Amino acid sequence: MFDKFDREINYLRVSITDRCNLHCSYCRPKEGISLKGHDDILRYEEIIRIVSMAVKLGMIKVRITGGEPLVRRGFIEFIAELKKINGLQDISLTTNGILLAQYAQGIFDAGIHRINISLDSLDKEKYFHITNGGNLDAVLRGIAKAEEIGFSPIKINAVAIKGFNDDEVLAFAKLAVDKPFQVRFIELMPMGQCNLDHGEDYFPMTQLIQKISSKYELEQLKVKKSKSAGPATIFRIKGGRGEVGFINPVSSHFCSTCNRLRLTADGRLRACLLKEEEIDLKKALSENCSDAVLERLIREAILLKPKHHDLDCSDRHLKKCHRDMSEIGG
Ligand code: SAM
Repeated sequence: MFDKFDREINYLRVSITDRCNLHCSYCRPKEGISLKGHDDILRYEEIIRIVSMAVKLGMIKVRITGGEPLVRRGFIEFIAELKKINGLQDISLTTNGILLAQYAQGIFDAGIHRINISLDSLDKEKYFHITNGGNLDAVLRGIAKAEEIGFSPIKINAVAIKGFNDDEVLAFAKLAVDKPFQVRFIELMPMGQCNLDHGEDYFPMTQLIQKISSKYELEQLKVKKSKSAGPATIFRIKGGRGEVGFINPVSSHFCSTCNRLRLTADGRLRACLLKEEEIDLKKALSENCSDAVLERLIREAILLKPKHHDLDCSDRHLKKCHRDMSEIGG
């Protein structure tokens, strides 16, 4: 499937729940959350029907996200059903890792071998603070278990926040030296209930790279050399086992290579993370729509994809996206 700008759209990110066992202050702060009712969230059978149609139309990659996907009951059985979809070449998972030690083996056996783990601090107290109660040791146990079982690649994603984790950049880089992980720094995006000021708390990637280069020798990898880089710019650390990466959705758009569509937990197809236009599949499914209607709606969503989003560094204070990342699926 191609959009209006001739980009091939073959990657679907699926948020299976808006619920999460953490309350990261920039993502889903405890105060002011309004959770959807169970009836407003897509049932697993509905997700399978949508993904099956999307794959028939040309999607080859699916990433499961949320909210926190591991908190939804029946998650492992759901993955096993997804695996049965003919033509779906790749299924991956994004998790905060809190429940990973418990579920990693089941996830691996059900057929997911690629995993992204979100981790914004390697300091116990800071992690507790930013996540509003999260236990860093549980995440580290989850990461260790994933490594032991053989997940590959294992990507560790840290949102770079000035005044919070800028003093940990070298500690994160060391993780990529010691372990075969891809440690990625992601720019903070001004969206939803994000209560950080994207102007004040924004930490430019050039500074991150400078900090790491002060201690380690970095070698930029060509996209095809790095394992599944996606929109990240990836560097190998000389003498290290892993890689570090930088994802800059605001300061350097990667819209021209965007190949994705998002399915929100409440059944909307969202054409661009930072644009509000969505197509309501939940409503169509609850009215028992035919496959032909489902196909038409998926194609419509693809045609909604804008050439690019409008956020740049000059208007970092503006929120152009009103839904939380946990609803849309980060
Ligand atoms: N619970 C899972 C997790 O923690 O990975 C999946 C959902 S979470 C919304 C996905 C990712 O979105 C996390 O890495 C989180 O840090 C990131 N995220 C949330 N809000 C963000 C924002 N305003 N800017 C940048 N990244 C954000």
